[in-house]
Amino acid sequence: MADKTDEKKVTPRSQDFAAWYNDIILKAELADYSPVRGCMVIRPDGFGVWEALRDELDRRIKRTGARNAYFPLFIPQSFLQKEAEHVEGFAPELAVVTHGGGKKLEEPLVVRPTSETIINHMFAQWVRSHRDLPLMVNQWCNVVRWEMRTRLFLRTSEFLWQEGHTAHATREEAERETLTMLEVYRSFVEDYLAIPLVFGRKSAAQRFPGAVETYAIEGLMGDGRALQCGTSHFLGQNFAKAFETRYLDDANQLQYAWQTSWGVSTRLVGAIIMTHGDDQGLRLPPNVASTQAVVVPIWRKADEGDKVLGAARAAFEALDKAGIRARLDTREGVTPGFKFNDWEMRGVPVRIEIGPRDVASGEAVLARRDKSGPEAKTKASLTGIEGHVQKLLGEIQQNLFAQAKAASDANTREFADYAALAKQMEGEGGGGFAVVYWCENPACEEKIRVETRATCRVIALNQSVAPGKCIVCGESATERAHFAKAY
Ligand SMILES: [Zn+2]
Repeated sequence: MADKTDEKKVTPRSQDFAAWYNDIILKAELADYSPVRGCMVIRPDGFGVWEALRDELDRRIKRTGARNAYFPLFIPQSFLQKEAEHVEGFAPELAVVTHGGGKKLEEPLVVRPTSETIINHMFAQWVRSHRDLPLMVNQWCNVVRWEMRTRLFLRTSEFLWQEGHTAHATREEAERETLTMLEVYRSFVEDYLAIPLVFGRKSAAQRFPGAVETYAIEGLMGDGRALQCGTSHFLGQNFAKAFETRYLDDANQLQYAWQTSWGVSTRLVGAIIMTHGDDQGLRLPPNVASTQAVVVPIWRKADEGDKVLGAARAAFEALDKAGIRARLDTREGVTPGFKFNDWEMRGVPVRIEIGPRDVASGEAVLARRDKSGPEAKTKASLTGIEGHVQKLLGEIQQNLFAQAKAASDANTREFADYAALAKQMEGEGGGGFAVVYWCENPACEEKIRVETRATCRVIALNQSVAPGKCIVCGESATERAHFAKAY
């Protein structure tokens, strides 16, 4: 039998970040490769993370007034052609159904890459007067974008997401909704997933096809590359005009609706792995851990077993009753060391070790996953163990954010000199956020992209900086932008 401990090891993060990332996903059993190229099988441990984050985000979305609905997977191909930029943007990655029931279809059907078109088709029928507005729907579903180069959770041909779509009577109201959702995403990802972010407006080159303005939240991953974690689009009247989504205003005049759309996807699971994982494996923020605490009973002699198991079961029940998502690891035939490594790999925030001496002294050892070495372990009384664990889970949630924020801040730099920026982006190890003055001329952005592979990630909102000079052309620039190599 192979040494199970070695089998469980991941490639060191510093050695090969991409291999480390894949190792964690496979060994922590979050996802697996699919027989269909570019697709992904999400396993129960990975889906548990998605469910936890989905449930909380769903609550937050509903609090803004949006309600869930469902629109079909198939969209008539002609719908996509109605908005010129939209079809141009999505054409290269569409999956198209040409046959059904053994017959060639009269009109090919597109497997939704996003649902602006079909939702607008329905909105146009549902919206009659200003009293029908605002109309705010959200749907949780899968979408398909044919990808040539795929990475589990980060870029797959099919992925899960939510897409919100709203229609409003005025431009101001739609713009406000776009920013409201940006803030919902920012606070959710920072507070709940413990991932520090930068956020703001996208450059024209990075805008959603068909949008007037795109806003995004972006996190800096452990390898110095940025990951777009969510977007919120102000669509103006582009889709309303293409689909005749109109309403009668107070004065009985027909007006086009103003719209938004916004979404986050299973990519967030990838962001959690890359932000928090270490060389022992996954580290899950307690909020989204499907197992928040695991109780591991430890004994050698048969006569110790009953007492230890009894105390472990009592601890598990106390945790469970207190609403903590707990597991009791009674597996036989594997060593405690194997179990420790296994739960560390799976990212469980707190491990509770209970041995014969602990039972005698009425205590347990609490090991926290966010720290290592001696400072990771503390003793706590078995009586009221749930209170100790609850408090520890809160501390771990805070500490994971603090650790990630420190790493992100340490890899964020201001540059006034183009050569220094280019040098920072060099090689696989180069990266991080570069904060630079940029004149917003697409030619300057393109030069940076071609020469350094860094792209404009966001232009922060409400900047109060003195005017400066574009890092590329030297022309005057009123705002600074975050550039980075990105996923
Ligand atoms: Zn410039």
